[in-house]
Amino acid sequence: MKTEPEFHTNIPLSEFTTYRIGGPADKLYIPYNVEQLERTYKRILDSGEELLIIGGGSNLLISDRGFPGSVIVMRECCSRISSYGSKFKCGSGVKLETFIANVIRNGCAGIERLTGIPGALGGALTMNAGAYNSKISDFLTSVNVLDEWGNRKNLSKNEIRFAYRSAPGLHGKLILGAEFDFSQRDRVGPAKMACEILQLRRSKHPWQYPSAGSVFKRHPYGPAGKLIDRFGLKGKRIGDAKISTKHANFIINLGKARAIEVLALIRLIQRRMEDEYDIELDLEQKLVGFTEAELADPEKFL
Ligand SMILES: Cc1cc2nc3c(=O)[nH]c(=O)nc-3n(C[C@H](O)[C@H](O)[C@H](O)COP(=O)(O)OP(=O)(O)OC[C@H]3O[C@@H](n4cnc5c(N)ncnc54)[C@H](O)[C@@H]3O)c2cc1C
Repeated sequence: MKTEPEFHTNIPLSEFTTYRIGGPADKLYIPYNVEQLERTYKRILDSGEELLIIGGGSNLLISDRGFPGSVIVMRECCSRISSYGSKFKCGSGVKLETFIANVIRNGCAGIERLTGIPGALGGALTMNAGAYNSKISDFLTSVNVLDEWGNRKNLSKNEIRFAYRSAPGLHGKLILGAEFDFSQRDRVGPAKMACEILQLRRSKHPWQYPSAGSVFKRHPYGPAGKLIDRFGLKGKRIGDAKISTKHANFIINLGKARAIEVLALIRLIQRRMEDEYDIELDLEQKLVGFTEAELADPEKFL
Protein backbone atom coordinates (compact mmCIF):
# COMPACT_ATOMS: atom_id res chain seq x y z
CA MET A 1 0.00 0.00 0.00
CA LYS A 2 1.29 3.47 -0.87
CA THR A 3 1.85 5.43 2.34
CA GLU A 4 2.33 8.83 0.71
CA PRO A 5 0.38 10.58 -2.05
CA GLU A 6 1.90 10.54 -5.50
CA PHE A 7 3.75 13.84 -5.91
CA HIS A 8 4.89 15.66 -9.07
CA THR A 9 6.37 18.99 -9.96
CA ASN A 10 6.02 20.43 -13.44
CA ILE A 11 3.65 17.76 -14.74
CA PRO A 12 1.37 19.20 -17.46
CA LEU A 13 -2.21 19.57 -16.28
CA SER A 14 -3.34 18.76 -19.83
CA GLU A 15 -3.01 15.13 -18.67
CA PHE A 16 -5.85 15.72 -16.20
CA THR A 17 -8.33 17.72 -18.31
CA THR A 18 -10.74 16.56 -20.99
CA TYR A 19 -9.76 19.56 -23.16
CA ARG A 20 -6.23 18.06 -23.10
CA ILE A 21 -5.06 21.61 -22.40
CA GLY A 22 -3.19 23.13 -19.44
CA GLY A 23 0.38 23.92 -18.39
CA PRO A 24 2.12 22.55 -15.29
CA ALA A 25 1.29 23.00 -11.61
CA ASP A 26 4.01 23.98 -9.15
CA LYS A 27 3.06 20.94 -7.06
CA LEU A 28 0.63 18.13 -7.82
CA TYR A 29 -0.60 15.51 -5.35
CA ILE A 30 -2.58 12.33 -6.04
CA PRO A 31 -3.65 10.95 -2.64
CA TYR A 32 -4.54 7.24 -2.41
CA ASN A 33 -6.81 7.38 0.64
CA VAL A 34 -8.76 9.84 2.77
CA GLU A 35 -6.06 10.07 5.46
CA GLN A 36 -3.44 11.11 2.87
CA LEU A 37 -5.93 13.53 1.34
CA GLU A 38 -6.73 15.12 4.70
CA ARG A 39 -3.04 15.54 5.60
CA THR A 40 -2.20 17.01 2.18
CA TYR A 41 -5.16 19.40 2.29
CA LYS A 42 -4.28 20.67 5.77
CA ARG A 43 -0.62 21.14 4.80
CA ILE A 44 -1.65 23.23 1.78
CA LEU A 45 -4.10 25.29 3.88
CA ASP A 46 -1.34 25.97 6.48
CA SER A 47 1.14 27.01 3.77
CA GLY A 48 -1.29 29.57 2.36
CA GLU A 49 -0.65 28.32 -1.20
CA GLU A 50 -3.29 28.56 -3.89
CA LEU A 51 -5.18 25.26 -4.24
CA LEU A 52 -6.91 23.67 -7.20
CA ILE A 53 -8.90 20.46 -6.82
CA ILE A 54 -9.36 18.36 -9.96
CA GLY A 55 -11.97 15.62 -10.28
CA GLY A 56 -12.35 14.44 -13.86
CA GLY A 57 -11.14 17.79 -15.25
CA SER A 58 -14.15 17.90 -17.57
CA ASN A 59 -15.23 21.44 -16.78
CA LEU A 60 -11.85 23.19 -16.62
CA LEU A 61 -9.93 25.44 -18.99
CA ILE A 62 -6.44 25.75 -17.48
CA SER A 63 -3.97 28.34 -18.76
CA ASP A 64 -0.97 27.33 -20.90
CA ARG A 65 1.28 28.57 -18.08
CA GLY A 66 -0.49 26.19 -15.72
CA PHE A 67 -1.40 26.78 -12.10
CA PRO A 68 0.86 28.67 -9.67
CA GLY A 69 0.14 26.61 -6.57
CA SER A 70 -0.79 23.11 -5.43
CA VAL A 71 -3.16 20.78 -7.21
CA ILE A 72 -4.94 17.80 -5.64
CA VAL A 73 -6.19 15.19 -8.12
CA MET A 74 -9.06 13.17 -6.66
CA ARG A 75 -9.10 10.20 -9.01
CA GLU A 76 -7.46 7.66 -6.65
CA CYS A 77 -9.18 8.47 -3.35
CA CYS A 78 -12.72 8.80 -1.98
CA SER A 79 -13.62 5.95 -4.29
CA ARG A 80 -16.13 3.91 -2.25
CA ILE A 81 -19.85 3.38 -2.89
CA SER A 82 -22.16 1.73 -0.39
CA SER A 83 -25.94 1.35 -0.28
CA TYR A 84 -28.76 0.27 1.98
CA GLY A 85 -32.15 0.02 0.26
CA SER A 86 -32.77 3.33 -1.47
CA LYS A 87 -29.95 5.12 0.39
CA PHE A 88 -26.47 5.48 -1.12
CA LYS A 89 -23.14 6.85 0.08
CA CYS A 90 -20.66 7.75 -2.64
CA GLY A 91 -17.08 9.08 -2.48
CA SER A 92 -16.27 12.28 -4.37
CA GLY A 93 -13.57 10.58 -6.47
CA VAL A 94 -16.01 8.03 -7.94
CA LYS A 95 -16.74 8.57 -11.63
CA LEU A 96 -20.31 9.78 -12.08
CA GLU A 97 -20.93 7.01 -14.64
CA THR A 98 -19.85 4.36 -12.09
CA PHE A 99 -22.21 5.79 -9.47
CA ILE A 100 -25.14 5.95 -11.91
CA ALA A 101 -24.53 2.35 -13.04
CA ASN A 102 -24.47 1.24 -9.41
CA VAL A 103 -27.76 3.01 -8.60
CA ILE A 104 -29.45 1.52 -11.68
CA ARG A 105 -28.15 -1.97 -10.85
CA ASN A 106 -29.71 -1.65 -7.40
CA GLY A 107 -33.15 -1.00 -8.92
CA CYS A 108 -33.33 2.70 -8.05
CA ALA A 109 -34.48 5.41 -10.44
CA GLY A 110 -34.08 9.13 -11.11
CA ILE A 111 -30.38 9.66 -11.72
CA GLU A 112 -30.30 7.89 -15.13
CA ARG A 113 -30.93 11.17 -16.98
CA LEU A 114 -27.41 12.25 -16.01
CA THR A 115 -25.91 9.35 -17.95
CA GLY A 116 -23.04 10.44 -20.18
CA ILE A 117 -21.88 13.40 -18.07
CA PRO A 118 -18.14 12.86 -17.64
CA GLY A 119 -16.17 13.54 -14.47
CA ALA A 120 -16.36 12.51 -10.83
CA LEU A 121 -18.98 13.02 -8.14
CA GLY A 122 -17.13 15.93 -6.43
CA GLY A 123 -17.08 17.90 -9.67
CA ALA A 124 -20.72 17.07 -10.38
CA LEU A 125 -21.74 18.41 -6.94
CA THR A 126 -19.64 21.58 -7.32
CA MET A 127 -21.25 22.23 -10.70
CA ASN A 128 -24.69 20.90 -9.74
CA ALA A 129 -24.35 18.96 -12.99
CA GLY A 130 -27.54 18.24 -14.83
CA ALA A 131 -29.21 17.19 -18.06
CA TYR A 132 -32.67 16.47 -19.40
CA ASN A 133 -34.52 18.22 -16.54
CA SER A 134 -32.59 16.38 -13.87
CA LYS A 135 -29.65 17.42 -11.69
CA ILE A 136 -27.37 15.74 -9.20
CA SER A 137 -28.80 17.73 -6.25
CA ASP A 138 -32.32 16.32 -6.85
CA PHE A 139 -31.56 13.08 -5.01
CA LEU A 140 -29.04 14.37 -2.50
CA THR A 141 -29.50 14.45 1.27
CA SER A 142 -26.10 15.66 2.53
CA VAL A 143 -22.46 16.29 1.57
CA ASN A 144 -19.40 15.45 3.64
CA VAL A 145 -16.61 18.03 3.32
CA LEU A 146 -13.34 19.30 4.75
CA ASP A 147 -14.03 22.95 5.44
CA GLU A 148 -11.77 26.01 4.96
CA TRP A 149 -9.90 25.10 8.19
CA GLY A 150 -9.53 21.41 7.38
CA ASN A 151 -12.33 20.21 9.71
CA ARG A 152 -14.79 17.50 8.66
CA LYS A 153 -18.35 18.72 8.33
CA ASN A 154 -21.65 17.33 7.12
CA LEU A 155 -23.70 19.85 5.15
CA SER A 156 -27.41 19.37 4.52
CA LYS A 157 -28.81 19.97 1.05
CA ASN A 158 -30.47 23.20 2.28
CA GLU A 159 -27.20 24.58 3.63
CA ILE A 160 -25.58 24.20 0.20
CA ARG A 161 -28.19 26.34 -1.61
CA PHE A 162 -27.84 24.58 -4.98
CA ALA A 163 -28.67 26.69 -8.02
CA TYR A 164 -28.33 26.31 -11.78
CA ARG A 165 -24.80 24.88 -12.32
CA SER A 166 -23.60 26.12 -8.95
CA ALA A 167 -23.42 25.13 -5.30
CA PRO A 168 -22.49 28.24 -3.27
CA GLY A 169 -22.35 26.41 0.07
CA LEU A 170 -19.54 24.15 -1.20
CA HIS A 171 -17.31 27.04 -2.25
CA GLY A 172 -13.82 26.86 -0.68
CA LYS A 173 -14.39 23.35 0.68
CA LEU A 174 -13.04 19.94 -0.29
CA ILE A 175 -15.82 17.43 -0.94
CA LEU A 176 -15.20 13.95 0.48
CA GLY A 177 -18.49 12.30 -0.42
CA ALA A 178 -22.25 12.57 -0.36
CA GLU A 179 -25.41 10.73 0.64
CA PHE A 180 -28.42 10.21 -1.60
CA ASP A 181 -31.92 8.83 -1.23
CA PHE A 182 -33.62 7.50 -4.36
CA SER A 183 -37.22 7.01 -3.33
CA GLN A 184 -38.36 5.80 -6.78
CA ARG A 185 -37.76 2.13 -7.63
CA ASP A 186 -37.78 0.67 -11.13
CA ARG A 187 -35.84 -2.40 -12.29
CA VAL A 188 -36.13 -1.90 -16.09
CA GLY A 189 -36.93 1.69 -17.07
CA PRO A 190 -33.72 3.44 -15.92
CA ALA A 191 -31.35 1.10 -17.80
CA LYS A 192 -33.35 1.59 -21.00
CA MET A 193 -33.46 5.36 -20.50
CA ALA A 194 -29.68 5.46 -19.84
CA CYS A 195 -29.00 3.70 -23.19
CA GLU A 196 -31.32 6.09 -25.05
CA ILE A 197 -29.71 9.13 -23.48
CA LEU A 198 -26.21 7.89 -24.34
CA GLN A 199 -27.26 7.50 -27.97
CA LEU A 200 -28.87 10.93 -28.01
CA ARG A 201 -25.74 12.56 -26.55
CA ARG A 202 -23.53 10.78 -29.09
CA SER A 203 -25.66 12.09 -31.92
CA LYS A 204 -25.66 15.69 -30.61
CA HIS A 205 -22.17 16.17 -29.16
CA PRO A 206 -18.78 16.27 -30.94
CA TRP A 207 -17.52 13.38 -28.81
CA GLN A 208 -14.63 12.55 -31.20
CA TYR A 209 -12.73 15.67 -30.07
CA PRO A 210 -11.45 16.79 -26.68
CA SER A 211 -13.71 19.43 -25.11
CA ALA A 212 -15.13 20.41 -21.72
CA GLY A 213 -18.79 20.21 -22.70
CA SER A 214 -20.97 23.31 -22.81
CA VAL A 215 -18.93 26.51 -22.69
CA PHE A 216 -21.81 28.79 -21.66
CA LYS A 217 -24.78 28.43 -19.36
CA ARG A 218 -28.28 28.38 -20.76
CA HIS A 219 -29.55 31.93 -21.43
CA PRO A 220 -33.11 33.07 -20.62
CA TYR A 221 -33.57 33.53 -24.41
CA GLY A 222 -32.77 29.82 -24.99
CA PRO A 223 -29.89 27.32 -25.08
CA ALA A 224 -26.56 29.11 -25.70
CA GLY A 225 -25.73 26.74 -28.59
CA LYS A 226 -28.85 27.77 -30.49
CA LEU A 227 -28.03 31.50 -30.02
CA ILE A 228 -24.40 31.05 -31.15
CA ASP A 229 -25.55 29.01 -34.13
CA ARG A 230 -28.16 31.60 -35.10
CA PHE A 231 -25.48 34.26 -35.29
CA GLY A 232 -23.31 32.27 -37.66
CA LEU A 233 -20.39 31.49 -35.37
CA LYS A 234 -20.39 27.70 -35.84
CA GLY A 235 -17.10 26.48 -37.31
CA LYS A 236 -15.13 29.63 -36.34
CA ARG A 237 -11.54 28.65 -35.61
CA ILE A 238 -8.56 30.24 -33.83
CA GLY A 239 -5.46 28.08 -34.10
CA ASP A 240 -6.49 24.55 -33.16
CA ALA A 241 -9.52 25.68 -31.15
CA LYS A 242 -12.81 25.55 -33.01
CA ILE A 243 -16.49 26.19 -32.32
CA SER A 244 -17.96 22.80 -33.12
CA THR A 245 -20.08 22.56 -36.24
CA LYS A 246 -22.07 19.79 -34.54
CA HIS A 247 -22.94 21.73 -31.36
CA ALA A 248 -22.20 25.45 -31.24
CA ASN A 249 -21.88 25.57 -27.43
CA PHE A 250 -18.86 23.23 -27.58
CA ILE A 251 -15.33 24.44 -28.32
CA ILE A 252 -13.23 21.52 -29.47
CA ASN A 253 -9.48 20.92 -29.48
CA LEU A 254 -8.44 19.84 -32.97
CA GLY A 255 -5.07 18.60 -31.71
CA LYS A 256 -2.71 21.22 -30.37
CA ALA A 257 -5.10 23.93 -29.19
CA ARG A 258 -3.72 26.33 -26.58
CA ALA A 259 -5.78 27.65 -23.69
CA ILE A 260 -5.36 31.21 -24.94
CA GLU A 261 -6.89 30.20 -28.30
CA VAL A 262 -9.93 28.72 -26.55
CA LEU A 263 -10.20 31.83 -24.38
CA ALA A 264 -9.98 34.07 -27.47
CA LEU A 265 -12.89 32.15 -29.04
CA ILE A 266 -14.89 32.46 -25.82
CA ARG A 267 -14.37 36.24 -25.71
CA LEU A 268 -15.13 36.56 -29.42
CA ILE A 269 -18.51 34.86 -28.90
CA GLN A 270 -19.26 36.97 -25.82
CA ARG A 271 -18.32 40.25 -27.55
CA ARG A 272 -20.33 39.51 -30.67
CA MET A 273 -23.36 38.61 -28.59
CA GLU A 274 -23.03 41.72 -26.43
CA ASP A 275 -22.15 44.26 -29.13
CA GLU A 276 -24.59 43.15 -31.79
CA TYR A 277 -27.46 41.64 -29.83
CA ASP A 278 -27.13 42.87 -26.24
CA ILE A 279 -27.04 39.28 -24.97
CA GLU A 280 -24.70 38.40 -22.08
CA LEU A 281 -23.56 34.79 -22.04
CA ASP A 282 -22.26 33.46 -18.70
CA LEU A 283 -19.50 30.88 -18.65
CA GLU A 284 -20.25 27.38 -17.41
CA GLN A 285 -16.61 26.25 -17.66
CA LYS A 286 -14.12 27.29 -14.98
CA LEU A 287 -11.10 29.34 -16.09
CA VAL A 288 -7.92 28.63 -14.14
CA GLY A 289 -4.52 30.36 -14.05
CA PHE A 290 -5.14 33.27 -16.47
CA THR A 291 -3.97 36.83 -15.76
CA GLU A 292 -6.41 39.75 -15.63
CA ALA A 293 -4.88 41.05 -18.88
CA GLU A 294 -5.38 37.70 -20.64
CA LEU A 295 -8.95 37.47 -19.41
CA ALA A 296 -9.71 40.99 -20.62
CA ASP A 297 -8.16 40.71 -24.08
CA PRO A 298 -6.85 37.23 -24.94
CA GLU A 299 -6.30 38.11 -28.62
CA LYS A 300 -3.30 40.24 -27.59
CA PHE A 301 -1.60 37.11 -26.27
CA LEU A 302 -2.14 34.79 -29.23
C1 LIG B 1 -18.48 15.84 -23.52
C2 LIG B 1 -18.95 16.56 -22.27
C3 LIG B 1 -20.31 16.62 -21.98
C4 LIG B 1 -20.76 17.28 -20.84
N1 LIG B 1 -22.10 17.31 -20.58
C5 LIG B 1 -22.55 17.91 -19.45
C6 LIG B 1 -23.95 17.91 -19.14
O1 LIG B 1 -24.78 17.38 -19.86
N2 LIG B 1 -24.34 18.54 -18.00
C7 LIG B 1 -23.46 19.14 -17.15
O2 LIG B 1 -23.88 19.68 -16.10
N3 LIG B 1 -22.13 19.14 -17.42
C8 LIG B 1 -21.66 18.54 -18.54
N4 LIG B 1 -20.30 18.55 -18.83
C9 LIG B 1 -19.38 19.28 -17.95
C10 LIG B 1 -18.74 18.43 -16.83
O3 LIG B 1 -18.64 17.09 -17.22
C11 LIG B 1 -19.50 18.52 -15.51
O4 LIG B 1 -19.53 19.85 -15.03
C12 LIG B 1 -18.89 17.59 -14.45
O5 LIG B 1 -19.81 17.37 -13.44
C13 LIG B 1 -17.58 18.11 -13.87
O6 LIG B 1 -17.01 17.08 -13.07
P1 LIG B 1 -15.43 16.91 -12.96
O7 LIG B 1 -15.17 15.87 -11.93
O8 LIG B 1 -14.83 16.69 -14.27
O9 LIG B 1 -15.05 18.33 -12.37
P2 LIG B 1 -13.70 19.15 -12.65
O10 LIG B 1 -13.73 19.69 -14.03
O11 LIG B 1 -12.52 18.38 -12.23
O12 LIG B 1 -13.91 20.35 -11.61
C14 LIG B 1 -15.03 21.22 -11.73
C15 LIG B 1 -15.06 22.09 -10.47
O13 LIG B 1 -15.31 21.25 -9.33
C16 LIG B 1 -14.25 21.39 -8.37
N5 LIG B 1 -14.07 20.07 -7.72
C17 LIG B 1 -13.91 18.87 -8.33
N6 LIG B 1 -13.84 17.89 -7.40
C18 LIG B 1 -13.92 18.50 -6.18
C19 LIG B 1 -13.90 18.04 -4.82
N7 LIG B 1 -13.78 16.74 -4.51
N8 LIG B 1 -14.02 18.96 -3.82
C20 LIG B 1 -14.16 20.28 -4.11
N9 LIG B 1 -14.19 20.79 -5.36
C21 LIG B 1 -14.07 19.90 -6.38
C22 LIG B 1 -13.05 21.86 -9.18
O14 LIG B 1 -12.09 22.53 -8.37
C23 LIG B 1 -13.72 22.78 -10.18
O15 LIG B 1 -13.99 24.03 -9.59
C24 LIG B 1 -19.82 17.89 -19.96
C25 LIG B 1 -18.45 17.81 -20.25
C26 LIG B 1 -18.01 17.15 -21.39
C27 LIG B 1 -16.54 17.05 -21.66
